[in-house]
Amino acid sequence: MIPHDHPRYQSLVTREHLAECARSGIVSWEGLISHGRGEAFDYLLGEKTSDSARRAARVAAALLRTARYPVISVNGNTAALAAREIAGLQKASGALVEVNLFHRTPERVAQIESLLCDAGADVFSGEAERLLPLSHDRAWCRRDGMYRADVVLVPLEDGDRCGVLVEMGKKVIAIDLNPLSRTARTATLTIVDEVTRALPLIAEACATLSAEECRELVAMLDNRVFLKEAGIEMAGRLSHALD
Ligand code: ATP
Repeated sequence: MIPHDHPRYQSLVTREHLAECARSGIVSWEGLISHGRGEAFDYLLGEKTSDSARRAARVAAALLRTARYPVISVNGNTAALAAREIAGLQKASGALVEVNLFHRTPERVAQIESLLCDAGADVFSGEAERLLPLSHDRAWCRRDGMYRADVVLVPLEDGDRCGVLVEMGKKVIAIDLNPLSRTARTATLTIVDEVTRALPLIAEACATLSAEECRELVAMLDNRVFLKEAGIEMAGRLSHALD
């Protein structure tokens, strides 16, 4: 029982929810460690969306809106934290939703797909193949899904697959609280923000940007600027907090 007046109430509720999802198999035990790393970086952001991340979310929307074949890749942590937000972004962007896991079993895939469906997402399922040049199970995807995509959104990704997707010529949008991660540095665009905060911002921008604005935002995209701004934001907060 977590008391409502606890200063870290929301964080504790989220942790308890993730622990429950780990017990039921949706989140891997290792996924809990990833969440801890994310929380640490979110502290440095003051647990709120920066202006820079807000702008990056608009660019993400522009990339999704101008894509021919956009796909949202979902893993266990993302499904556990943000199934409803994924469904909302799918509606706003028209992207396909596909499950992709590091710790992959048919049961886990089915469990996560069903959680997403219950939240209102239309999940692209069916026969997966080992199509990506990776030695781990994130190599498994659908030929008419992620393999064919020109733009892939990868919330909470690992750097290997992000790199491979970029090498395949795809535009990769990462959502990652750690601006130093391999994923953040390899992606075409990184939104340095918490996944449940970032997804609704992308959905909102998908619904409001004009076609002309989308083209301009994509043409001006420079991920190094967003990573640098995230670093400056975090360093600034850290030095102020310790004054
Ligand atoms: P890389 O291979 O890219 O260097 P890593 O080994 O740190 O990454 P993982 O352990 O797979 O990657 O963790 C995924 C990333 O997701 C971490 O960088 C973490 O900061 C980030 N992360 C965790 N939870 C969240 C969240 N709720 N919102 C946004 N990012 C998150």
